[in-house]
Amino acid sequence: MIDLRSDTVTRPTAAMRRAMAEAEVGDDVLDGDPTVLALQERVASLLGKERALFVPTGTMGNACGLWVHGRHGTEAYAHDDSHIVNWEIAGLAGLRGLQPRMVRGAPVMTLETLRAAVRPASKHAPTASVVCFENTHNGAGGMVTPLAELRAMAGFARGTLKLPIHLDGARLWNAHIATGTSLADFAACADTVMVSFSKGLGAPLGACVAGSAAHIDEAFVARKRLGGGMRQSGIVAAAALHGLEHHLGRLAEDHANATRLAAIIADGVEDVQVVPPDTNIVMIDLPERLDAGTVTAHARELGVLISAWHDKRVRVVCHLDASAADVGTAAHALVQALR
Ligand SMILES: *Cc1c(COP(=O)(O)O)cnc(C)c1O
Repeated sequence: MIDLRSDTVTRPTAAMRRAMAEAEVGDDVLDGDPTVLALQERVASLLGKERALFVPTGTMGNACGLWVHGRHGTEAYAHDDSHIVNWEIAGLAGLRGLQPRMVRGAPVMTLETLRAAVRPASKHAPTASVVCFENTHNGAGGMVTPLAELRAMAGFARGTLKLPIHLDGARLWNAHIATGTSLADFAACADTVMVSFSKGLGAPLGACVAGSAAHIDEAFVARKRLGGGMRQSGIVAAAALHGLEHHLGRLAEDHANATRLAAIIADGVEDVQVVPPDTNIVMIDLPERLDAGTVTAHARELGVLISAWHDKRVRVVCHLDASAADVGTAAHALVQALR
C-alpha cells in the first residue's frame, strides 16, 4: 500500500529513532527538559520570536494561541475552511468561549475577504478579540498565502481592527520551502504562531507555539490547564529537532512529487479538476459521475490510500515515506481509479 492520505502517516526513520533514544532528558514540568529547552530555543530563533513552548499537538498549540488572545464571549475571525473552524471540534468555543466570525469567499483568507467580514459597528453586535490565519492552508490544498498578502492582512488586523493575530502554521515549513520567504518574515505577521513537527518533518508528534515572552507565559498556563505539561518530553523533542535538521530542506521533494502527480492526473483524466499544488497537497475535484467514497475504495484496491475530503473532493498528500517512484506509481493507479 502507498499511503498518501496525509503527511501525518510518516513513521520515524531509523536515524530519528536513534536521536530519540539518545536524547538527554529531564523533568520538563519540574525544571525543564534540556532537549525540550533546546527545541524551544531553536524554534523561537527560526521564527524570530522571543520564546516558544513545546506542546503535544498542533490542536493544543492553536488552543494555547486562542487562549492567549481570545476574550470569552467575543469573536475570532477565521476562514470558513480553516482547521481551527472545521477540525478542532469547536475548541475555540468549547475552551475559550469564542464564536468564529467566518471569513468567506476565496480558497484562503485575503485582505479583501477579511475586510468584507468586518461587522458594521453596533452596540448589539459581537466584538472580536483575535484574527486567525492559516499558512499553508490545508483545506485549500496546501495553498501558500504569499508574504505580501499576509503582511497586508496583518496590517489591517493590527492597524484598523486593533486585534492580535494567531497563525496556524502547522505547515509553515512548506510555505517557507516553496517560496524561499524566511520563517521569521512569515511569523512577523502574527503575534503567536503554531508550527507542527508531525506533518512534513516526520516526527511522531509535537508542535510549538511561539510568541513574545509575555504571551508564552500565558500559553504555559493554558498548556498546563489543558493537561499538556509533560515530563521527559525531550524524547519527543529530539525527534522534532532531528526533523528540523534533516527533513526541512527535503520538503521540496514532496512539492515536486505533488506537482508531478497533479500533472499526471490532469493529463490522464479529462473530467476532473486538479487544484494545482503550491506545496505537498493535491486536491482533486470530482465530476458528476464520481463520488469520493467510490474513488477512495477503487484506489485502495489498486494499492493506494487517499482521503475523501468531502463527497466531491479527494485529497492526496506527498510526504517523507513516499518516494518519487511511489508517487509516480500512485499517480498512474489514481488515473485508473478516476477513469
Ligand atoms: C494537522 C493540523 C493541525 C493540528 O495538528 P495536530 O497535531 O493534528 O493536532 C492544525 N492546523 C492545521 C492546518 C493542520 O494541518
